[in-house]
Amino acid sequence: VSTELIDVLTNCPRLNISCLDKGFVRLMDVMPRLVPANADGKYTADCAIVQAARVSYGHGTKTVNEDRGLIRYLMRHQHSTPMEMVEWKFHCKMPIFVARQWIRHRTANVNEVSGRYSVLNDEFYLPDVDNIRQQSKTNRQGGDEKITNTDAEGFLQYIDSLCSNAYKKYTEALSVGIAREQARMILPVSLYTEWYWKIDLHNLFHFLALRCDSHAQYEIRVFAEAMLELITPIVPVAVEAWNDYHPMRGAVKLTRLEVEVLRDFFKKLDWYGLEKPDLNSDNKRERAEWEEKAKLLGWM
Ligand SMILES: Cc1cc2nc3c(=O)[nH]c(=O)nc-3n(C[C@H](O)[C@H](O)[C@H](O)COP(=O)(O)OP(=O)(O)OC[C@H]3O[C@@H](n4cnc5c(N)ncnc54)[C@H](O)[C@@H]3O)c2cc1C
Repeated sequence: VSTELIDVLTNCPRLNISCLDKGFVRLMDVMPRLVPANADGKYTADCAIVQAARVSYGHGTKTVNEDRGLIRYLMRHQHSTPMEMVEWKFHCKMPIFVARQWIRHRTANVNEVSGRYSVLNDEFYLPDVDNIRQQSKTNRQGGDEKITNTDAEGFLQYIDSLCSNAYKKYTEALSVGIAREQARMILPVSLYTEWYWKIDLHNLFHFLALRCDSHAQYEIRVFAEAMLELITPIVPVAVEAWNDYHPMRGAVKLTRLEVEVLRDFFKKLDWYGLEKPDLNSDNKRERAEWEEKAKLLGWM
């Protein structure tokens, strides 16, 4: 293992992703920024997770496979504090109605542009015509199918003229001396705002699980997906483990009632002599955990 420390951001293919028509997510910094090479000569911030975990589990395991196994073990067992050793600072620009949803995630540190201190820019979100959605009939919180082009175009023209007019009135109010903190009341929630947003990896995974999910509104999902893309090359093993084990990514958490149904079902399969499929993992511990779960489901 090299003792040379490399800035992890220099190996990062992308640091900035455009979102919606005028927004973006920029990765400004990450801790640890200076990282040692792993046994394969790769420089990733996954090292901070194993480094912290080894304080509790002792030293000695240093191969890439052992590091990967340890991170995957931590993720499977919700041993989350080592994940908090990686921290991210993003600069984000999004419409105010997206920021309203985003700010509900209380574990981040935020500093936002001030509409009291500065004159706000004439920048409003105008969706693509193909992305004007009909109110969903099954999900009261969402829209799904695309609405007809005529309705979409009419709606977009209306937003556009309303926003131009609102901004004109805003500048008129400022020019007669109305305070910036009150003049802004005229502006709609499609106005763009900006903030710095700092969060640790454990809480970022929680945010991403909720906001990359198909139930999240499209307009916040694009920002969450951009963040996921930015962090993946920096913590590839942690992201892989999160995708494999998080109930909102690919895993399933079962209730006791559901376990009972499956147990009955597998009992029937046994009667017909069907074989239990193998787990696609070469990790001994993970295979042992699967054996335990299979037993619980009455599969052996
Ligand atoms: C699809 C979707 C629809 C939604 N719809 C609505 C809606 O209609 N109305 C609405 O008001 N909100 C809505 N929300 C917001 C949602 O209720 C949460 O406020 C938001 O997702 C943040 O989740 P969180 O509290 O788990 O996250 P964070 O604030 O990031 O907190 C992370 C975790 O820390 C713990 N935590 C943090 N602060 C506290 C605290 N003060 N007390 C106890 N535990 C704490 C909790 O375990 C929490 O899960 C919606 C969210 C989604 C994803």
